[in-house]
Amino acid sequence: MSFFAANNLVKQFGGLTAVANLNFTVNQGEIFGIIGPNGSGKTTVFNLISRFFPLTSGEIYFKGKRIDTLPAHKICQVGIGRTFQVVKPLKRMSVLDNVMAGAFLRTSQVGKARAKAKEIVHFCGLEPYKDFEAKSLPIPLRKRLEIARALATEPELLLLDETCAGLNPKESEEAILLIRKIREAGVTIIIVEHLMKVMMGISDRILAINFGGQITTGAPKEVAGHPEVIKAYLGD
Ligand code: ADP
Repeated sequence: MSFFAANNLVKQFGGLTAVANLNFTVNQGEIFGIIGPNGSGKTTVFNLISRFFPLTSGEIYFKGKRIDTLPAHKICQVGIGRTFQVVKPLKRMSVLDNVMAGAFLRTSQVGKARAKAKEIVHFCGLEPYKDFEAKSLPIPLRKRLEIARALATEPELLLLDETCAGLNPKESEEAILLIRKIREAGVTIIIVEHLMKVMMGISDRILAINFGGQITTGAPKEVAGHPEVIKAYLGD
């Protein structure tokens, strides 16, 4: 049994096929990267997993249970958390309260939620900013907050969408350190990034897609050297 399996995923928006018969599995404990040029279907795959959109056809399994038939709010409860490409914290709330909002998806007890939020804020290096309004944070810290909110839902599988987009090399390096730390804490990760360089350094395995379909899956070096991957990126 795979930890996570996507079988024959298809998503059509009207006449446009955004995801075309995609198959992949993710092993527990790995960092699994999905790369592809802009518009290739990466975010749509996340939206399908997190049930923002219904599948046109296909099946998704998590820990042996079919999850594509569940309503969106149950996805978090089965242990899948996600961040968004466009970060959207609750702007006028403090950093700590934002993370607590994530924790409340798991517990209704204020004390427990606060303790969890404090632990996660510390883990993510956000302690110095815990009382700041979310809207006052610069982008790299907002992205960190977005990850913290997702972690507060206690995911076993975390979906990270373009965590390094818009970050400079030093900020990206810091984000990557945090992602590695999350994996070391036992969370399996699927990460979507446009930047191939970032993905090469962080992923155990990579799925390369274009036009919503698979080009290849494998170790980062194999994928980066694949002629069709090179072609897809040159044309981007
Ligand atoms: P990526 O994340 O790789 O940049 P997306 O998954 O955002 O790609 O988009 C894949 C394709 O699906 C694009 O052609 C995009 O315009 C289309 N698409 C994405 N979301 C929607 C939507 N809600 N309605 C219509 N088309 C969409």
